[in-house]
Amino acid sequence: MRVRFWGVRGSLPVPGMKTERYGGNTSCVEVRSASGTRVVIDAGTGIRKLGKELMQADGEPGGVKVHLLISHTHWDHIQGLPFFSPLYQQGNHLSVYARKRDDLHLRAVFASQTDDPYFPIPFSEAKAAIAFRELMDSAEFEINDVRVSCARLNHPYIATAYRLSVDGASVVYVSDTAPFTDILFDDQFIARAPTVGAQLPKEDRDKLAAMREGVVRLCEGADLVIYDTMFTPDDYRQLPHYGHSRPSDAIEICRQAGARRLALFHHAPERSDAEVDAILADARALTAREKVPVDVVAAYEGLDISLGRE
Ligand SMILES: [Zn+2]
Ligand SMILES: [Zn+2]
Repeated sequence: MRVRFWGVRGSLPVPGMKTERYGGNTSCVEVRSASGTRVVIDAGTGIRKLGKELMQADGEPGGVKVHLLISHTHWDHIQGLPFFSPLYQQGNHLSVYARKRDDLHLRAVFASQTDDPYFPIPFSEAKAAIAFRELMDSAEFEINDVRVSCARLNHPYIATAYRLSVDGASVVYVSDTAPFTDILFDDQFIARAPTVGAQLPKEDRDKLAAMREGVVRLCEGADLVIYDTMFTPDDYRQLPHYGHSRPSDAIEICRQAGARRLALFHHAPERSDAEVDAILADARALTAREKVPVDVVAAYEGLDISLGRE
């Protein structure tokens, strides 16, 4: 399989000279199996360019088939979808998968994104055939030859992690999530920071431990883990209630899971290329010091990784 990064940024797009090397587009990763099954994870602004390439590459009009897994519907993970050109071509197929909500159907969540006054083209005008599939927290299913497993993440209003296995290899996408220690996120806004390191009620600790266990299991033996490492240790101390991790959190999960490679992902919008370089160097120093056999890279737009059979 091939894994290609189209957007690696968190929160909002940040074009400009300081983000030129890693890229300024928000979350979007494409996974393509050797037989041609195309799964895209998240529809941040990176998906716009992918859409253009698909429209050119797939020759015949109406030949584009995409399975889109959504981690959660915060802006930075869906804001590119209205600009995904295959949506507006008859004969194309888009299947959207995301966690089931109690209040709104998935279709309504996506349709509201393009309602007046936010966008000129209503979702109902999309010409592609669009199907929605709502997922439970630990869903397992197949998309053609790709096996997909899910786990719940610790993020405000909850996010879903995905493991994709095909061609004798596995990639896991873990974004967005806080570590599983200082705060338990659910379907609510938490306005105030908890005290980092303070003891939580037993019920919360048990839930967090179970959630973490689910993530470690999802990453077990993975060839590549893509992980939300938006925060530096300082950021985390200040904003533990924003729902993001540090590289050390991702490295510890990879160590426990025996994962081979870690891609730092969902870079903070204010982070310059030089700062991402420094974060990567620190993360590599940490794995060397602690003898964690995981190869760390920092995801950038255009990074293309081949795993297992191609
Ligand atoms: Zn995000
Ligand atoms: Zn988020």
